[in-house]
Amino acid sequence: MASKPLRPCKHPGCSELTRDGYCAKHKPKHQRKASADYHSWYGKTIWKRKLRPSQLIHEPWCAECDKQGMRTKATVVDHVRPHRGDWTLFTDETNLQSLCKYHHDKKTALEQAQERSKNGAFF
Ligand SMILES: [Zn+2]
Ligand SMILES: [Zn+2]
Repeated sequence: MASKPLRPCKHPGCSELTRDGYCAKHKPKHQRKASADYHSWYGKTIWKRKLRPSQLIHEPWCAECDKQGMRTKATVVDHVRPHRGDWTLFTDETNLQSLCKYHHDKKTALEQAQERSKNGAFF
């Protein structure tokens, strides 16, 4: 693959040479774009009236606590594979699991840490 020529960063006053328009410091953050709209999916009828309640009826106990032999009432319906704005994954009932708040927060924090290290390695 032919590499693009080095050009000065498009940010006004920045003379850093780059191949993608902006230097690493001024590169716009595109990663956040998807997250803005899929949060509203949790307000949709299919989630509130169907997917979430039916999952909690099927599995009323936290799946993670269950692995440790504990019975904790689940309050959060989680996506096993993070859907990241993928509607098919979001509505896939086999991709759902019930979690308590503690385990859901823990999983979310872990995913965000992984995401950050991925983005860090990119530069
Ligand atoms: Zn720059
Ligand atoms: Zn739990």
